[in-house]
Amino acid sequence: TDPFSSEVKPRILLMGLRRSGKSSIQKVVFHKMSPNETLFLESTNKICREDVSNSSFVNFQIWDFPGQIDFFDPTFDYEMIFRGTGALIFVIDSQDDYMEALARLHLTVTSAYKVNPDINFEVFIHKVDGLSDDHKIETQRDIHQRANDDLVDAGLEKIHLSFYLTSIYDHSIFEAFSKVVQKLIPQLPTLENLLNIFISNSGIEKVFLFDVVSKIYIATDSSPVDMQTYELCCDIIDVVIDISCIYGLKGAGTPYDKESLAIIKLNNTTVLYLKEVTKFLALVCFVREESFERKGLIDYNFHCFRKAIQEVFEVRVKVLRSRKHQSQT
Ligand code: GDP
Repeated sequence: TDPFSSEVKPRILLMGLRRSGKSSIQKVVFHKMSPNETLFLESTNKICREDVSNSSFVNFQIWDFPGQIDFFDPTFDYEMIFRGTGALIFVIDSQDDYMEALARLHLTVTSAYKVNPDINFEVFIHKVDGLSDDHKIETQRDIHQRANDDLVDAGLEKIHLSFYLTSIYDHSIFEAFSKVVQKLIPQLPTLENLLNIFISNSGIEKVFLFDVVSKIYIATDSSPVDMQTYELCCDIIDVVIDISCIYGLKGAGTPYDKESLAIIKLNNTTVLYLKEVTKFLALVCFVREESFERKGLIDYNFHCFRKAIQEVFEVRVKVLRSRKHQSQT
C-alpha cells in the first residue's frame, strides 16, 4: 500500500477575490512557474480549479470570488467541500482596496465555520512586494483589526484567523505555505522528534523534510529556521529537479526517484546534502565538513530515519482505514 495515498494528504482550499493572485500562487508554488510569467496568466471563469497534484504531498483546490460562489445556492454543495477541508487560505490583494475582500472573508469564514469548526483559517496578505516595510506592518495591523472586529460584532470571536505577509517574488509564499501545511500534519511532533534524534546522532547542524514538488517544508528539527538556510534548500532542490528534467533519461518516469541525491560543498566548510525519503519527500541536511567525513554513519542513521517515518505514515493510514470501515459497518 502507498502510505501517501490521498486520504492522508492535507487538503487546502485557496479562496479570494478575482485577481488577488490565487492562480499565480498555484503556478509558482506547485508548477515552478517564474513569478514574472504570471503577469500573462489568463483570467478564468471557472468556479473551481482543481489541482489534484498526484506528485505532491499536498492536495488543494482554488475557488474564485465574487459571484461564482453563492452560499445560498442550493445546488452548490459547499458544505461537503468544507467538511473535507483542513485549511482555508483566503488571499487578499494588499495593493488594492481591500474592503470588499474583507467582507468576503467574513462571509466565507463564518459560513465555513458553521459547517466545519475544525478548519484552520489562514489569511494571506498578498503582493506585499509593492509595499514599503512600514506600510506592510500598517496594512497587516489594519486588516487584522478589521477582520477580528467583524467577528466580534458577529459574536464569533472564538474563530481564530492567522495572518501572513506573502509575495510570489520571494520565498515568503513558500514559508507561509509551509506553516499552513505543518498545522495539518498530525504526525508533526513525531516527525520533529525523529529529526532531532537523527541530527544529534549524526553530527548534523540543521535538517528539513521537504515536499519536493512544492518546496514546502513539512518539518524541521527544533533549532531555529533562518531565511537564508531555507533558500539554500530550495536552491538544491531546484538543481536536482532541473538537471534531471533537462539531462535525465527520457522515459525514465519522474525526475525524482529512490536514487535521487545531491552533495554540494559550500564555501563556508558546510556540506549541503539532499536525499530521497519517499516519492514526495526529501531530506535536506546542513553538515560541517568534518562531520561529513563520517558519511557512513549519516547514511546508516538516515536509513533508520526513513524506516521510522514510513511507519509513522503507515500507522495513520491504518487508523483512517479502520475508522472508515467501522463507520460503514
Ligand atoms: P486570480 O484571479 O486570483 O487567480 O489572480 P491571478 O493569479 O491571475 O493574479 C492576478 C495578477 O496579480 C497577475 O497579474 C499576477 O502577476 C499578479 N500577482 C500575483 N501575485 C503577485 C505578487 O505576489 N506580487 C505582485 N506584485 N503581483 C502579483
